[in-house]
This record gives sequence, structure tokens and C-alpha cells, in this order.
Amino acid sequence: MRTGVFGGTFDPIHRMHLLIARAVRRESRLDRVLFVPTGASSHRGAHEAADPVHRAAMISAACSEEPQFALCLVDVERSRPTYTIDTLTDLRRQFGPREELILVLGADNLAAIPTWHRGPELMASAHCIAVSRPGHQLVDPGFPSGRLSLVHVPPLRFSATTVRRRAALGMPIGALVPMAVERYIVEHDLYCTR
Ligand code: ATP
Repeated sequence: MRTGVFGGTFDPIHRMHLLIARAVRRESRLDRVLFVPTGASSHRGAHEAADPVHRAAMISAACSEEPQFALCLVDVERSRPTYTIDTLTDLRRQFGPREELILVLGADNLAAIPTWHRGPELMASAHCIAVSRPGHQLVDPGFPSGRLSLVHVPPLRFSATTVRRRAALGMPIGALVPMAVERYIVEHDLYCTR
């Protein structure tokens, strides 16, 4: 089984995340893609993310009609800060040696990997697929030969920050997130500034 491990804050999951998962699954012939939301992340943290319960529920809702996509709570359930190298170690232990785990990330994160906790070790041991992102170069920061695939996806400039800002202003977000996620945000009053 070839499994993509797509980590992120997913606050909230948006249409570009799903487009990326579909593109890498097709291009790299993955059997499935796991969405792995952060709990208390160490290399993110520009804003205080919504409760992992909400972020996970929105991922579940977004994946409900895509049988090859699933939510994975390995980082949310960890009691200490999350590092990607720990995520892969825990998943390898959980799934066994026959599972091929392939890290999925955007070009912004690819460029930052060497600065991550045990980044060089992560690059030496992981297989990775990185996708293009406007404003970031899609270049190999030094993976061993054959370990990194680069995949071009449509250059859509929005991020979860765009979704949160629009929701806070009461602006429509239906073009940016699946309908079930939009419904969840409204029902739970997420991201409103009141
Ligand atoms: P935020 O605005 O809160 O930082 P984000 O959408 O940029 O949110 P995450 O939710 O952590 O960030 O994204 C998970 C992964 O998806 C990351 O690897 C990120 O690089 C990638 N990603 C998110 N949006 C895009 C995009 N528009 N194009 C390419 N990659 C993206």
C-alpha cells in the first residue's frame, strides 16, 4: 500500500488541500492520502489554531465522499509538540514495514524542511512529494536521489488564512471550502471575531 501523509494545520481544510491530494494521488499512484492535522505544532504557530476537534471534524466532512482520503489523528493524540519526523516514526510503527509512507507538502514547507527539528535526518529517511505554490520555488533542498517528486498543481493563491479572514468578515467562503465545511463553520461559529 502506498500512502500519502499530508500534514498541516488544516484550519480549515480547503479546496486547494483536496485538489493537492487528488493530484498527488494520481501522479504518484498513491492508494490513499491521510490528512494529518497538527495538535500542538512546533514549526507552525503564526496564529492560534481552532481546536483540533473542529479541524478534524471538518477534514472528516470534506473526505466523506472521497473513499481514498482519510483523517489521521496521530499528531492530535500526541501529548507533546509534534514534529514531522515523529509523525512518520509513529505511522511506520502503526502500519508496519510493508506500508510505503510518502510525505506530501507544499513548496513553502519543502523549502523550510532543512530548518525543521531533525530536518536533515527527515530528508535522509523520508520519501516526499512536494507541490507547487505561488510565491515559492519548487526546488529540491537536498533530498537523496529518487526520494523527492515534484508535482505542479494549479497556481491558486488562497490559503486557510483567506478562509478565516473571509469568514470573520461574514463574506462567502463557498468557493474556497467544500459545502460541508462551510456548513460546519457556520454551525459552530468558527472564525468569527465577535
Ligand atoms: P494557513 O493560511 O493557516 O497557513 P495553509 O492552507 O497555508 O494555511 P496548511 O493548512 O498547514 O496551510 O496547509 C497544509 C499543506 O497544504 C501545506 O504543506 C501547504 O504548503 C499546502 N498548501 C496550502 N495551500 C496551498 C496552495 N494554495 N497551494 C499549494 N499548497 C498549499
